Amino acid sequence: MVTPWSPVAALRRIAFLLERGREDTYKVKAFRGAAAALLPLSDDEIARHVTDGTLRSVPGVGASSAAVVEQALAGEVPDRLAALEAEHGGPLVAGGEELLPLLRGDLHSHSDWSDGGSPIEEMAFTAIELGREYQVLTDHSPRLKVARGLSAERLARQLDVIDAVNDHLTAAAGEGGFALLKGIEVDILDDGSLDQTDAMLDRLDVRVASVHSKLKMDPEPMTRRMLAAVRNPRVNVLGHCTGRLVTGGRGTRPESRFDARAVFRACAETDTAVEINARPERRDPPTRLLELARDLGCLFAIDTDAHAPGQLDFLAYGAERAAAAGIDPNRIVTTWSRKRLLEWAGAGV
Ligand SMILES: [Zn+2]
Ligand SMILES: [Zn+2]
Repeated sequence: MVTPWSPVAALRRIAFLLERGREDTYKVKAFRGAAAALLPLSDDEIARHVTDGTLRSVPGVGASSAAVVEQALAGEVPDRLAALEAEHGGPLVAGGEELLPLLRGDLHSHSDWSDGGSPIEEMAFTAIELGREYQVLTDHSPRLKVARGLSAERLARQLDVIDAVNDHLTAAAGEGGFALLKGIEVDILDDGSLDQTDAMLDRLDVRVASVHSKLKMDPEPMTRRMLAAVRNPRVNVLGHCTGRLVTGGRGTRPESRFDARAVFRACAETDTAVEINARPERRDPPTRLLELARDLGCLFAIDTDAHAPGQLDFLAYGAERAAAAGIDPNRIVTTWSRKRLLEWAGAGV
């Protein structure tokens, strides 16, 4: 009998759709946990658990996951999966449909090494499934303790894990396939310096720099702080420049105040990309600043800032905003080939 879904694939797809549809994390966790618990088992072993009635004795498998597994093994499309495909499987947004397929990758994403919800390999597999050529992993830097920012030592260990993931992927797909790239979302400290050692920053492929603290700083010191960061030759991308939150579970937050013209001019002069952060609760920069950066000749990176695999699909939101602002795709670094992107990102190091 041909089953349309393996149990693990069905559970992963459900979790992906929940994340993509911005459902609560607790709903996602049950399915991701069950998928991880069943991954080491063969379909035959899982089927034996179903026959013996012992599926729910597998740690991590609850009632709703068990129902999905039973239906998948019976050759049916699980009801939960069908319902979520109908609810969350369609286009995320109208607009940007021509730009979206030009986007080859994403320079900003998080794993469970900092404040993301999934392991590194799950983020990588999902990026592959979405047809990306590369994904940059950019976990947080040490000062961001609430997000379990990585010390230099932990980052060094993470780089070994990325090498191992890429070795497996290259063994499976050959050179020239998908690559998981090494990155960081490094905090811009109060004085504009970066929250990681130069030696570690030099080992990375792409460096996104963002302000996460003292967002209410006066405009003058904030401008100096941001100018120092974008002029730092190691910085490739200015992340979510205003820090605003427009909706979502964390509430709203006003924009940081700074001289946007001066900051974007410096970005244009130094080839630092202005991030178009695609997260629906950020929509950063706001439209007037996006248009200002466009008019000042900046480069852009459309990034998901994904903290879960399903959020890797958020590029659609960023594409819609970039297209609406009339930004030339050639000025969006994430439309470039991986080779060109890496040459650009490595230029300052
Ligand atoms: Zn951030
Ligand atoms: Zn981030």
